[in-house]
Amino acid sequence: AIELQDLHKRFGQNEVLKGIDLTVDPGQVVCVIGPSGSGKSTLLRCVNLLEQPTKGKVYVQGVELTDRDVDIDAVRRHIGMVFQQFNLFPHMTALQNVMIAQQRVLKRSKTDAEVIARENLDKVGVSDKCDSLPGQLSGGQQQRVAIARALAMNPDLMLFDEPTSALDPELVGDVLTVMRKLAEEGMTMLVVTHEMGFARQVADRVVFMDGGVVVEDGVPAQVIGDPQHERTRTFLHRVL
Ligand code: ATP
Ligand code: MG
Repeated sequence: AIELQDLHKRFGQNEVLKGIDLTVDPGQVVCVIGPSGSGKSTLLRCVNLLEQPTKGKVYVQGVELTDRDVDIDAVRRHIGMVFQQFNLFPHMTALQNVMIAQQRVLKRSKTDAEVIARENLDKVGVSDKCDSLPGQLSGGQQQRVAIARALAMNPDLMLFDEPTSALDPELVGDVLTVMRKLAEEGMTMLVVTHEMGFARQVADRVVFMDGGVVVEDGVPAQVIGDPQHERTRTFLHRVL
């Protein structure tokens, strides 16, 4: 589970998050939508402390990450993150990309790491690409390798930051299918996305952010289907 309490983040004079309260219960999928610059990525990065919040509290699995005494590396190990840019090592095969953090961070043996890597590459539908370099894969395949890499670390929850926005339209579906499967398996997921179809079908809740605040938070049928705020309606008109 994730709980954010009165989360603030400032870059210099620019207050990007102005008091965010947000909860993701175990097994829930919450989609965050909102205009460019509204603070969505910053919010996600605060959840695993890639950005240090200026004020407020972040709880992950009941542990307060904003507590100075917390071993942040230990907590981060339980949080998978997938970015718009896949960030695979270009000189390593898909298999090696999924093995490396398992060996370095979790200290798994090479044999164990390889077994787990193959399982996860199979799960995301790219088991035939184990020996390919990222440059030999389509964007959709690279993103699925990146998801397999995160899953191989046995995360308690997954953060996705616009995982399909860098993809050609015909490749988006394969990645969303993998994410939908993960959701059905009960993974706790916080997903920044512009894919309204996915949000509608898969999300338990949709959160609309604008100007560093949560404007609307509710079930998809409400936030997307029957928004209560003018700002939400304006945004949806532009993206739908
Ligand atoms: P997009 O939809 O374009 O990805 P976003 O909602 O993810 O937008 P953020 O990336 O969170 O928005 O950025 C929110 C604001 O914070 C922007 O004004 C941005 O310039 C600023 N910002 C983000 N990261 C930094 C940083 N490291 N240093 C300074 N300003 C930053
Ligand atoms: Mg962003």
